[in-house]
Amino acid sequence: MEIKINKRPLFESHFHPDSAISFAKYRQESSDAGVKYLLAASNDLESTLLAEAFAESSENSWFSAGVHPHEVAQHINMVQKFAKFAKNKKCVAIGEIGLDYFYQNSERNIQLQVFEEFLKLARHVNLPAIIHCRDKEESEQAYIDTFLLLKRFAADGGQFVIHCYTGTTEWANKFLDLGAYLGITGIVTFPKAQNVRDVLKIIPDDRLLIETDTPYLAPVPKRGKTNHSKYLPHIAEKIADERSVSVEKIAELTTANAKKLFAI
Ligand SMILES: [Zn+2]
Repeated sequence: MEIKINKRPLFESHFHPDSAISFAKYRQESSDAGVKYLLAASNDLESTLLAEAFAESSENSWFSAGVHPHEVAQHINMVQKFAKFAKNKKCVAIGEIGLDYFYQNSERNIQLQVFEEFLKLARHVNLPAIIHCRDKEESEQAYIDTFLLLKRFAADGGQFVIHCYTGTTEWANKFLDLGAYLGITGIVTFPKAQNVRDVLKIIPDDRLLIETDTPYLAPVPKRGKTNHSKYLPHIAEKIADERSVSVEKIAELTTANAKKLFAI
């Protein structure tokens, strides 16, 4: 059974479009499930073009421009190429950008350099940043390095969301103190992810965002399938449960938060 939330439309704050799937069909299926607003996120130059095309294809759709830490080695000295996307009114964020020391597909110093350049770009074009941060197990170095860069970014007036937040409550508090929004994905429905449910209890109402991170991380009961924005209501339901409020309330506040952060 599909869960539908029609009274209060949901804002999908992070998904990756698939060029093999019809944009119109994707949007229709999402909107049938009550997911009215869609932000297409990017990993590199090619996916930024795809996300832009998705956003251009229909109303209530926007996109972000940026390079995921996995791809930075191929994008050194290319950051300025992304400035042109910011001229498009549908470009509402720079991202996803950040640090990934778990896979570490690119060397740390290159990740740091490109991340810093993108944060500068975000300030220059006055857009919020969508942040990816993942550590190696038992290490906090990615969080430490991300925090230091975001501290400067925030002091300079920058706004940001840590997307797919899976860190500790302590780190969540530190980022919240910088003005962060935290994006919660389907991981919140996974039995082992008690840390995410703990974090959920300390996020203020005005800093919570929800996202699927499609095609990854399909929520229970769709776990194992290719994810889709139409599954976002399962995440909203779980969050509502954990915070002991109605799902309409979660829809209302996360949509308002996304519109505020992305200046929509
Ligand atoms: Zn993503």
